[in-house]
Amino acid sequence: MTHLSGKAALVTGGGRGIGAAIAKRLAREGADVAITYAKGKAQAEDVLAEIKALGRRGLVIAADSADADAVRKAVAEAVKAFGRLDILVNNAGVFPYGPFEEVSLEEFDRTMAIHARAAFVAAQAASQHMGKGGRIISIGSNLGERVPHPGVSLYAMSKSALIGFTRGLARDLGERGITVNLVQPGSTATDMNPAEGESADAQRALTALGHYGSADDIAATVVHLAGEGARQITGAAILVDGGANA
Ligand code: NDP
Repeated sequence: MTHLSGKAALVTGGGRGIGAAIAKRLAREGADVAITYAKGKAQAEDVLAEIKALGRRGLVIAADSADADAVRKAVAEAVKAFGRLDILVNNAGVFPYGPFEEVSLEEFDRTMAIHARAAFVAAQAASQHMGKGGRIISIGSNLGERVPHPGVSLYAMSKSALIGFTRGLARDLGERGITVNLVQPGSTATDMNPAEGESADAQRALTALGHYGSADDIAATVVHLAGEGARQITGAAILVDGGANA
């Protein structure tokens, strides 16, 4: 028996990067795992194959997080497939970057919808199915707390919304024994932020440890929060950023 045996999880954006690492690690710990994707069907199916190879049940769901109905349906599909839902991980994300003056309203709305509204909608739908021991974990960013360079005001705004949401929801759901937490990665090597990208050296220079994190570094913290060992942690925003915000 591993520490998440018998639990069922939903990870948004679980086909690549941090979400894929979270999905696989949850499965390794014993959970059945559903993942959503927007465009990357083939990659999501590769992750599904790995979940199944671990002997768990898995499910791939096409659901654009910018579409609130699709997010609600994804929660319903996961519940239908597994008969329960214990762990929700709001991970799907985008990285709008560029001059403040050039950010369109459309990009503003889409970014806020993917990062903030989808987390709200998914938590609202998922929490209806959760009992004591339920877990809601969102992936924010260390840029939601500190912004060391220009070009990311929209991204920072959308991620800082998750701090307030996490605190409020921890109060809303605490009575039911459901914990709500935020994991805030710093520079983490994925398609979104390659460790050899243009700004990678500047990002490394901001850290205390001098290197990027891996997707699995983030997954390790998420899986800890998902387990019984974290039953006393709620309303927390946890930096996993190599000391960049220290
Ligand atoms: P990637 O770009 O590597 O992966 C993004 C994931 O999100 C993919 O699975 C993608 O699915 C999914 N996704 C994107 N848009 C949507 C959408 N509209 N609906 C559903 N799924 C979507 O990024 P990371 O793995 O690096 O990022 C994961 C999370 O971590 C994000 O929230 C990001 O903001 C956050 N983060 C990342 C940092 C980093 O340095 N990498 C630092 C701080 C925070 P698909 O394959 O279908 O496109």
